[in-house]
Amino acid sequence: MAEPSVKPIVVALAGNPNSGKTTVFNEITGARQHVGNYPGVTVEKKEGEREFAGRALHVVDLPGTYSLTAYSIEEIVARDFVIEEHPDVIVDVVDASNLERNLYLTSMFIELDVPVVVALNMMDVAEARGKHIDVTLLAELLGVRVVPLVARRGEGMKELLAAIVDAADHGQGQEVHVNFGPELEPHIAQLAGEISSRELADHLPARWLSIKLLEDDAQIRRRFEAAGEAGRAVLARAEEARRHLEQMIGDDAEVALADRRYGFVSGACREAITDAQLQRTDWSERVDAVVANRVIGLPVFFLFMWLMFEMVFRLGNPLMGWLDTFFAWLGTLTRATVPPGQLQSLLADGIIGGVGGVLVFLPNILLLFLAISFLEDSGYMARAAFVVDRIMHQVGLHGKSFISMLIGFGCTVPAVLSTRMLESPRERLVTILVVPLMSCGARLPVYILLAGAFFPAAWAGKVIFAVYALGVFLALLMARLFSKFLLTGPSRPFVMELPPYRWPTLKGTAVHMWDRGWMYVKKAGTTILAMSICMWFLLSHPTLPPDATLTDEQSARAAIEHSYAGRLGKFLEPALRPLGFDYRIATSLVAGLAAKEIVVSTMATVHSLGESDATSRELREALRRDPVFNPLVAVTLMVFVLIYIPCAATVAAIYKETGSWRWTGFAVGYTCVLAWAVAFVVYQVGRLLL
Ligand code: GDP
Ligand code: MG
Repeated sequence: MAEPSVKPIVVALAGNPNSGKTTVFNEITGARQHVGNYPGVTVEKKEGEREFAGRALHVVDLPGTYSLTAYSIEEIVARDFVIEEHPDVIVDVVDASNLERNLYLTSMFIELDVPVVVALNMMDVAEARGKHIDVTLLAELLGVRVVPLVARRGEGMKELLAAIVDAADHGQGQEVHVNFGPELEPHIAQLAGEISSRELADHLPARWLSIKLLEDDAQIRRRFEAAGEAGRAVLARAEEARRHLEQMIGDDAEVALADRRYGFVSGACREAITDAQLQRTDWSERVDAVVANRVIGLPVFFLFMWLMFEMVFRLGNPLMGWLDTFFAWLGTLTRATVPPGQLQSLLADGIIGGVGGVLVFLPNILLLFLAISFLEDSGYMARAAFVVDRIMHQVGLHGKSFISMLIGFGCTVPAVLSTRMLESPRERLVTILVVPLMSCGARLPVYILLAGAFFPAAWAGKVIFAVYALGVFLALLMARLFSKFLLTGPSRPFVMELPPYRWPTLKGTAVHMWDRGWMYVKKAGTTILAMSICMWFLLSHPTLPPDATLTDEQSARAAIEHSYAGRLGKFLEPALRPLGFDYRIATSLVAGLAAKEIVVSTMATVHSLGESDATSRELREALRRDPVFNPLVAVTLMVFVLIYIPCAATVAAIYKETGSWRWTGFAVGYTCVLAWAVAFVVYQVGRLLL
């Protein structure tokens, strides 16, 4: 036998009260134990020694706790021991028959940068209750070693000791974090960044410190208060983040963090436990039996999606009509007050036609965001991801990628950012590449305009739904192809959080919706305003001398053909002819590279130049009169706009997240080729059939 190494392995034994901690402690240490108090407090401190495989173990029994907040003396003692004494291994004794409750504490230990071994105790009780636990999967989901035990009978103790030595020698291996979701994670990352850059972390994990700051943990707050100027600056940032979160979620950040932790734990349990006789006691489990069911969950999900789109179009269209009337009135007013000429044309055609043409869709956008916020805040979105997990595995991704894809229905930029919650770089890259195929809010105006112009009201919603479905289908298809041929590798299991259901507060949902809606308005006031002016200029210059022999319509056409934008469109026209597009559509598509709504505002400018008024209603009529357009071209154009090059902001986000021009270029290139190919098939097949 080898000499016991000089420095013993320090093992902290932790766990919920009644999980069998004392039993495990006695099993490990036998008679060699001594009892005292933790320094400064009268909480019993038991310590003991053990030798195993030639190694000396020094075991410290921590007080039993359910959590690691700073609310009780036991929790502070347990936590301080881990963060200050930095033991070599934490052995977390959990009651396997009550896994969900016990793993809550485990989820806190895995944040602490000390290797964790889960002692899955009371396996006999769990089995007697008909619960089968997949130990290997659980270990993989939590990223820690898991050893099943029946401590009272001494079963599994050797394996536990071996795991302790292994963990002390080789560390944690893979690192798993609780994913706190799209609202909390950015704040955590930002705070952690500040803590590290100001060198305030000391020897503690910066991520853990930022979570504690968001929880407004008294002890950690004092720590930063004592750290002078820099510490106070971080505290101020944390304060600001908590306020923002409280507004957004309508609840304390601390509650939200706990929710996500519970979600992590219940997701892990749902995947790792097969329950022979599930007693569905609380209503959330009963709801989950339906919506998170692997079979009926999917139709339920589609039903929700369909209801969402119906709501958006049925409620949105009358509101859109009112805004339309408003902008028409504004246009008329401008023409009546500003003398005819360049300025009138710029204001009426360029700005009111362009920006107004985009802003009329605000009600639809807000309704869509309202629905998405509601689904997210209620906890349903997490279930949707759970349900599609299996399908996602088929395409080489993970259910969590689907959450990013769903966020993409709102806006592609946050969807790209949200891929940070994916741990595997491969899955993350594939998700970033396919997320732009999810139809974002900015594409909605294009669909509403075209579907509204060429299809009866009863059909328009269905056509748009079909375009959205095509986007989802293509995203899954491309993910499959990319995982198969481009970025191969296994997809590793990890926890799908199932946060508790909560009825979203009106304020929380409204703030959430408005946060996103406001981005749309800001975009209309900045990018789209600038692009509208730009496109107006490019479409109306150089000017042609008036020609009395032409009709109004003919001279408008000639003027556009003569303009800079018209010439660019003409240059591109041959490539887009096979799709049924002319040079004016080509021009709109080029303009749409800045933001996809601009396809609409450019069409408005194209069709309003030389006409009396530009309202959405009249634009639809102008399109219907236009010989280039027909329902087939309209559908082809919708498909093309769905797929081709993500907007400038998305391209920037992709570059920022991948850090690679190559992958950014690839995202731009493949979407272009795919857009052309799919639009070509749609148009040519459509022509054969119609
Ligand atoms: P502590 O509060 O975490 O220190 O838990 P104890 O070690 O005092 O154990 C609580 C109770 O659970 C005691 O009655 C133990 O005998 C019992 N117990 C401990 N381990 C097991 C086990 O593996 N199976 C069963 N059935 N009971 C156990
Ligand atoms: Mg005890």
